[in-house]
Amino acid sequence: MSAETHSATILIVDDTPINLRVIVESLEGQGYQIVVATRGEEALKRADYVQPDLILLDVMMPDLNGFEICRRLKSHPGTRDIPVIFMTSLASVDDKVTGFSVGALDYVTKPLHVEEVRARVDTHLRLRAMQKEMEKQAAQLTEANEELEAFAYSVSHDLRAPLRAINGFTQILEERCGASLPPEGLDCLLKVQFASKRMDVLIQDLLTYARTGRGAVRAVPVPLLPLILELECTFGDRLASTNASFEVSQPLATPLGDPTLIQQALLNLIDNALKYRRREVAPELKISATADGEHVLIRVADNGIGMPAEYQQKIFQVFQRLHHEHEYPGTGIGLAIVAKAARAMGGDVTVESSPGRGSTFTVQLPVAPVTEP
Ligand code: ADP
Repeated sequence: MSAETHSATILIVDDTPINLRVIVESLEGQGYQIVVATRGEEALKRADYVQPDLILLDVMMPDLNGFEICRRLKSHPGTRDIPVIFMTSLASVDDKVTGFSVGALDYVTKPLHVEEVRARVDTHLRLRAMQKEMEKQAAQLTEANEELEAFAYSVSHDLRAPLRAINGFTQILEERCGASLPPEGLDCLLKVQFASKRMDVLIQDLLTYARTGRGAVRAVPVPLLPLILELECTFGDRLASTNASFEVSQPLATPLGDPTLIQQALLNLIDNALKYRRREVAPELKISATADGEHVLIRVADNGIGMPAEYQQKIFQVFQRLHHEHEYPGTGIGLAIVAKAARAMGGDVTVESSPGRGSTFTVQLPVAPVTEP
């Protein structure tokens, strides 16, 4: 017996526990705490009260049969997760199948063999201990993640106030004393202004990242066309100034998601498609949304600079950039926002790209159920 199963409690449910004396003694000898119930109703009460780590359950009981007891244990939130092993004297396949169908994890056949019962009990207790540990770790991870996001949010928020002061005072300095500053001083002043503006953008992006997916995420059918046309309008000036084409392949499949998050994701993808363009050709953007089984695949394709295969995973992490600030300005947060938004809606995002030819970003979301017209 391992350390994690050492003080485990086992509830044995049998109307003739005397028959199980050898098993009980053997399990007690292993250090397990044994609790016995001889009737079905008593078993249900004890299971709820004692919260055993495992239940050994006889199929033949005078009041409730074992399958009914198991069914009730599994439908009650307080006892649902306790593993049940059936003890059945009928080695019939039917009994075993019924046992599994009402939620049992395993069975042992009567007459019981001490070594077999001990081995199965130990295995299931170890599995249960591992499962509990994993659940605990998942809960801790979620909590740590939430704390980190709350921290990032408040830090980003609080940093903006001193930054506004730096911006404001450097502006005043430039306006009032700019003419009397030597060229070197003026150059320094401009650099401070530039850096503080960049920091402001960075903080705003971090705030958006921290906010993305916080709070309730809706799961409603989202018609994409109006949303994409609105974005086309938003980017109107940049599309015109770069001579870009903007093609929407219709019909567009309807995903299930949060309209705000979908819009935020598409906004970042379109922004990038226009930013990472090849200087020598006009940008060509193509947007489509196709149903693929349970999913909708929203694709945003461009004919821009593309990227090598080895970076195609990395770029979805915060602050991962492939270019220098002076070449293509940015903060490295846009695609992290896209990934976070997609995952918050139960989806994901991937990219296919080849350098010098273009990239296609695919946001995968659950498909909306088809409704009658
Ligand atoms: P930012 O654009 O602010 O740098 P993103 O997170 O949006 O941050 O993008 C991360 C990096 O991925 C970019 O710096 C760029 O190198 C690369 N990238 C994103 N979109 C494209 C695209 N459409 N074409 C080529 N490279 C891209």
